[in-house]
Amino acid sequence: LGFVTDNCLFCDIGSGRIPADVVTRTDRVLAFRDIAPVAPTHILVIPVEHHRDVAGLVDADPALAAELLAVAAQVGAELEGGYRVVFNTGVDGGQAVFHVHAHVLGGRQLAWPPG
Ligand code: 5GP
Ligand code: ZN
Repeated sequence: LGFVTDNCLFCDIGSGRIPADVVTRTDRVLAFRDIAPVAPTHILVIPVEHHRDVAGLVDADPALAAELLAVAAQVGAELEGGYRVVFNTGVDGGQAVFHVHAHVLGGRQLAWPPG
């Protein structure tokens, strides 16, 4: 699906129907602060268009996937100590919102492996 979908939280944030603490945006990609940060910096990067997960995005629109990654890297570049980009995917991956989003995490040294 390449459009806004009903009953999707991140479609509502992407379209401005629900407010968010926006960090940066392009025509097609929005970066905003996670409401429940798990690191000192925790930013979500979404395509405004609805795609379910990273596989759905890259299949439908690889240029949009590249634009999303470029914004994630741009946001991460502000973190001098480095950062992590995560796409939680599916139930075992911990995905709760089924509108693809990159988590950009940083501001402290992050544990590896994750729990
Ligand atoms: P997931 O578990 O799907 O990878 O990540 C979903 C993320 O969305 C979680 O980190 C959660 O804190 C965040 N989140 C859920 N609802 C909202 C909201 O209304 N606003 C913002 N900014 N983040 C949200
Ligand atoms: Zn959506």
